[in-house]
Amino acid sequence: METSLVLYNTLTRKKEKFSPLNPPFVGMYVCGPTVYGDAHLGHARPAVTFDLLYRYLKYLGYKVRYVRNLTDVGHLENDADQGEDKIAKKARLEQLEPMEVAQRYINAFHKNMRQLNTLEPDIEPQASGHIPEQIEMIKTIVDKGYAYEVNGSLYFDVEKYAKKYNYGKLSGRILTDLQSNTRELQGQSDKKNPFDFALWKKAEPEHIMRWKSEWSDGFPGWHLECSAMSMKYLGNEFDIHGGGLDLQFPHHECEIAQSTIATENEVVKYWLHNNLITIGGQKMSKSLGNFITLDQLFEGNHELLESAYSPQTVRFFMLQAHYRKPLDFSNDALSASEKGLERLMKAMKTLQEIEPSNADTVNFDEIIEKSFEALNDDLNSPILIASLFDGVRIINSLKSGKDTISEKSLSKIRKFYSDIVYDILGLKDEEQNEVTNSKTEELMNIILQIRTDAKSKKDYATADMIRDSLKKSGIEIKDTPQGSEWKINE
Ligand code: ZN
Repeated sequence: METSLVLYNTLTRKKEKFSPLNPPFVGMYVCGPTVYGDAHLGHARPAVTFDLLYRYLKYLGYKVRYVRNLTDVGHLENDADQGEDKIAKKARLEQLEPMEVAQRYINAFHKNMRQLNTLEPDIEPQASGHIPEQIEMIKTIVDKGYAYEVNGSLYFDVEKYAKKYNYGKLSGRILTDLQSNTRELQGQSDKKNPFDFALWKKAEPEHIMRWKSEWSDGFPGWHLECSAMSMKYLGNEFDIHGGGLDLQFPHHECEIAQSTIATENEVVKYWLHNNLITIGGQKMSKSLGNFITLDQLFEGNHELLESAYSPQTVRFFMLQAHYRKPLDFSNDALSASEKGLERLMKAMKTLQEIEPSNADTVNFDEIIEKSFEALNDDLNSPILIASLFDGVRIINSLKSGKDTISEKSLSKIRKFYSDIVYDILGLKDEEQNEVTNSKTEELMNIILQIRTDAKSKKDYATADMIRDSLKKSGIEIKDTPQGSEWKINE
């Protein structure tokens, strides 16, 4: 199949026509979170960026397998090979099982992702569930001579790799610069060279998460999981690998090195990176006090926030910037997005209220064309949104009766706006959801009252019929001493 989608490939530093290895199938792997803390603004951007790509690829007719991992082991505190495992540390501090920590934050992450209206990945593998695959991959790298063992830990030999392959090709880093710029002092580490990275770490006695291997009781290095899991589910060559720009080096560079040795292939065809979020021009960090979690953002519960911002406002805010541009968070920018989204959603309603007439005095062709041109140009969502707003002006003039539109054109426009706004941009009308929720609440109160009345008249047949019918529709009733409760089974 042939489409006009063009994507910027970080590997070649060029925009390239998207042409998957095995159309209509597309394999896409995106680095997911390390699940040791609440999801924050920094997690929302890759989630929204790759959701847009996933949605658009599906819209174009591709059969996408979207894999996004959950890091629940091996990510050490300083993002390199030193310090404590992030999840183990949290478990120790909170006196929990490490998997209890991971599960808690996985659940919270999933809740935030649903709030942002991102589609679920097709496979969501956890690193701790793929230890044998990672050990297998290390063995291959050892067999090929690119790993060395020191005191039960295994390291990837970057210097040897760089003699034959282009280490730094993704990030543009040069090995000799890395050699002179490193802060790691000689003798502090087992590694031959500071830029070598761990494939397997021997666990210290107090380390809780450990697995047996022929080298030591230990755990895999952080970079390894993505190589092992992406290839397990997408094969030795696949189409798209994505993640935040902060992962480009060393994480993705190390992934390329490992996978290249293990397969002797160029494993990934297109590398995509979303740029980062700053707050008032500064990097987000706990020490600067500008670290905002998604829950805080949605609830307005942080000193930097002038109000709460709804998940859809946050989603729209991110889509209003191109994913490769830095995005600065501010209350002003968020309020502007809130107003913009309101205007767009109002137009979506207006579009349903317009009555068709016999003739067209307006033409949306240019708007439709521009919109898809923008999407095809490396997912240029800000240009796309600008062109949707050009259409909003026409929609409003149709509503006021200044212009007219035929039935055929009207249904075309309704479909276009619905496809773009709901299916591709993944926006939803939160106001409408609130109305629906409160109406459901009212309706359920009436139904439960009828059932209570039936029961008090000993008409159990009716009471049971109501309970059973609701159950069939996915609504469960529970009788408690305080009265009946209901919930929707998801
Ligand atoms: Zn990764």
